[in-house]
Amino acid sequence: MEIDQIYTELIKEHSLYSDNKKSLDDATDSQLGANPSCGDEITLNIRVKDDIIEDASFEGVGCAISQASASMMIDIVKGKTISEAKHDVKNFLKMIKNEDLTEEELENLEDAVALQNISKLPARVKCAVLAWRTLDKLLTDK
Ligand code: ZN
Repeated sequence: MEIDQIYTELIKEHSLYSDNKKSLDDATDSQLGANPSCGDEITLNIRVKDDIIEDASFEGVGCAISQASASMMIDIVKGKTISEAKHDVKNFLKMIKNEDLTEEELENLEDAVALQNISKLPARVKCAVLAWRTLDKLLTDK
């Protein structure tokens, strides 16, 4: 399989069959994020204890990119500290802006590297960054 195909499959899988798309009954915080230009609307839920993101989920509607990106992000930040998660957000936004990342930084972005080429599709960038900007706001407000 070509790398582009693998990435397309990853995006499809995350957008269609995400384990992270659900409500979170014992959430400590939630944040709504919207991207009106595409109609994406997600609610991000997190449960934080002792500075660790113990659990997270998302709900809402939107295009495959926005949904996949939210799912991929949750896989990455679950179990991390708030400052680690903020760091991941920063690196993801750098990747989408086509800035250079070290190999280690790319590895830390796990499945989300599948969204790397979105930087070439300006109209979809807002879809890809929606969940990450929403998480950043959620963590910054804490
Ligand atoms: Zn979208």
